[in-house]
Amino acid sequence: MRTNDLQVNGYERLASCTDENGYHGLIAIHSTRLGAAVGGTRLWQYQNEDEAIEDVLRLARGMTYKNALAGIPFGGGKSIILKNESWMDRETIFRTHGRFVDTFDGLYITAEDVGTTPHDMEYVRKETSHVAGLISGAGDPSPATARGVLSAMQAAAKYRWGYDDLGGRSVAIQGCGKVGYYLASYLCAAGVRLIVSDVDPNRVARVVRDFDAVAVAPEQIYDAGADIFAPCALGGAINDETINRLHVEIVTGAANNQLLEPRHGDELAARDILYTPDYAANAGGVIHGCRELLAWDPARTAAKIDEIYETVLNIFYMAASEGIPTYKAADRLAEERLNKAA
Ligand code: NAD
Repeated sequence: MRTNDLQVNGYERLASCTDENGYHGLIAIHSTRLGAAVGGTRLWQYQNEDEAIEDVLRLARGMTYKNALAGIPFGGGKSIILKNESWMDRETIFRTHGRFVDTFDGLYITAEDVGTTPHDMEYVRKETSHVAGLISGAGDPSPATARGVLSAMQAAAKYRWGYDDLGGRSVAIQGCGKVGYYLASYLCAAGVRLIVSDVDPNRVARVVRDFDAVAVAPEQIYDAGADIFAPCALGGAINDETINRLHVEIVTGAANNQLLEPRHGDELAARDILYTPDYAANAGGVIHGCRELLAWDPARTAAKIDEIYETVLNIFYMAASEGIPTYKAADRLAEERLNKAA
């Protein structure tokens, strides 16, 4: 195993690790001002290492802001395992990753993310204790993330329409993976009409079957004409190409880094589309991790996830009173907490 540190302004640490079996991982720590850096491990195919570095840095920074805004005592970090052709079995990959995580001596704590599961984290656990989201622990955070997204969506509805009952509304969900599936189940129970897409046909079929959703092709989700767009796949869903096609009143979803560039948040505001900042909406998963990390009981965890509703409303009020887009209001609230800690 060879590790190599790379210098990046504004980050506490960025390390790359490779081994002779083809493992290639990255760990970024953005900030430990509020505590150990917590953020999941993403397993994904990238064009090259530079693209993965850009992703891990953005995701790690997002975790700092997410944890600060959620009021939990953790900093922000993230890791990525780059998928490649010479692929090995999952136990080998995740045990190697666990050894890499362990070199951070607890300054970085990982969990699952896109492309990884609680089962994979059990392999990580064989090599390091600095991991959450285990089958033997609090388990998959995705239902909790979806629960938080639902609260955020209800807050957005309250702000936009004056009441938070989503019954009779339509929601277009991009991505029917772990979070998308649970979100669809909660929205279906709330009487919402669902339009869904995924690049994996099996995942779409499951949501169509279980929740009476209407499927559209991945590219068509932006034109779906729903009341709410819920990005629950990868980052960058709101970009120059898609923004003109969104005829929705609200954007609230689970994906990290939904805005390709910050200016897309300004453009959403200019188009009178209410954007719920991603890291405010999707904090339920990391809060769920507090069951393992801080020994919180289920009631305390659920109450903290429910606070997402008030946090999101506060962001909207602040944005309106200061005449700024909602993503800037969220950043300001998170930075206030970070500065207080400093
Ligand atoms: P996942 O891998 O289970 O699901 C993602 C889904 O998106 C997959 O089914 C994939 O096929 C699909 N997808 C990828 N590209 C797509 C496209 N262009 N169009 C439509 N579908 C596409 O991941 P997840 O855990 O459900 O996470 C979803 C998002 O939420 C990610 O951005 C993740 O970072 C974020 N998030 C997840 C959690 C959590 O608890 N799992 C917590 C916070 C944030």
